[in-house]
Amino acid sequence: MTQAITSDAVLPAHRPPPAGADPGDAHVRHAPWPYARLDVAALRAAGHRPSPVRQFVLKTHSRCNLACTYCYVYEMADQSWRDRPAVMSAATVRRAAERIAEHAASHRLTRVDLVLHGGEPLLTGPAALAAPVEAVRAAVPPGTRVTATVQTNATLLTPGRLDALAAAGIRVGVSLDGGLPAHNTRRADHAGRPGFGAAARGLRLLARHPESYAGVLCVVDLAQDPVEVYESLLDFAPPTIGLLLPLANWGDPPPGHGPRATPYADWLLAVFERWWHDGERRTRVRMFEEIIALLLGLPTATETLGLAPATTAVIETDGAIEQADSLKSAYEGAAATGLHVDTDDFDRLLDHPGFAARQLGRDALAAGCRACELVDVCGGGHYPHRYRAGEGFRGPSVYCADLQVLIRHIARALHAAAVTGRAAS
Ligand code: SF4
Repeated sequence: MTQAITSDAVLPAHRPPPAGADPGDAHVRHAPWPYARLDVAALRAAGHRPSPVRQFVLKTHSRCNLACTYCYVYEMADQSWRDRPAVMSAATVRRAAERIAEHAASHRLTRVDLVLHGGEPLLTGPAALAAPVEAVRAAVPPGTRVTATVQTNATLLTPGRLDALAAAGIRVGVSLDGGLPAHNTRRADHAGRPGFGAAARGLRLLARHPESYAGVLCVVDLAQDPVEVYESLLDFAPPTIGLLLPLANWGDPPPGHGPRATPYADWLLAVFERWWHDGERRTRVRMFEEIIALLLGLPTATETLGLAPATTAVIETDGAIEQADSLKSAYEGAAATGLHVDTDDFDRLLDHPGFAARQLGRDALAAGCRACELVDVCGGGHYPHRYRAGEGFRGPSVYCADLQVLIRHIARALHAAAVTGRAAS
């Protein structure tokens, strides 16, 4: 299908945005792949059907009480937050809920997932945080279940807020760099004061409410001892740990990157060995479980590995519809679509070249990835990690060497477990 829908010819690095796009996207100089090289009309004519959006990230508050040095929203290439309102207005909440409900109805979705995001979403009170969730629940068809999670730095969690979130059916996910103060020196407030103490208080509180606890996200920091980070996070009893590779690309490679180095695989495998050989399953580690599932040929919902279509859309505080926030690490405006909840439904997003490219699986990848024996598991890696200036998002991941070592090691562990009769649980 690749040859039918794309061209490898050198095309201009920019073309006009899709019909109806507002000027907010028109000024963006998008990457050649996919924006100049993916013909979505030909793709549809060839029979490729889009997958509906299933997860909606709502930017309910676009400012943060912390100023983490690696934050993709505030510290990386895209500075679009400066032009947006701090808080999503009631009118935008209502319009967003209508658009989500309309999408759920037209695609007969049995479930949609809402993620309340920021900035720091808890900078608004729980009532304001619950408003979009209640609006979506009221608007969707009777057969659509709505789940909701707030992703927070945990510094503003209090018993009252947690009770209010639980009453609204909103679970809580926390971003943290490890379970000790030394792991979190990059997570400080705008005056440089460490955020860990308040976050630890919030996490201890959350650990007493397992029904509300979604898990912890932790960006890998090579300067920290991996097993110490993992063990210290266990002290907060997270049901799930999400280990994230730092946002990076070929023009802005991650620390420690080199032609023969695999420091991220080494770091992650130290954690894997501790987790895999633990006598009891004390938490789930999402990345490892996803790799295992993909090795076993099971379906996964991840957008960071494998070939499953991306199905996440972002609604900014001003109502702009965007692609995943992580793209903002590539270049200014990389997540922009020119679409808006006031004027566009989510089907328009499905035909946006940036979104459509992330639903192509193997066809979206470079020849080297398509020929790679690990492609069904790796999938070319996380989309923003593939970015190279002048080419776009089609190359192998900047973490390719690490991913190969990581996946092969886990495959060997799985094989050994099968031989010895140990079941993955
Ligand atoms: S990024 Fe590397 S490991 Fe992943 S599919 Fe491409 S070539 Fe294979």
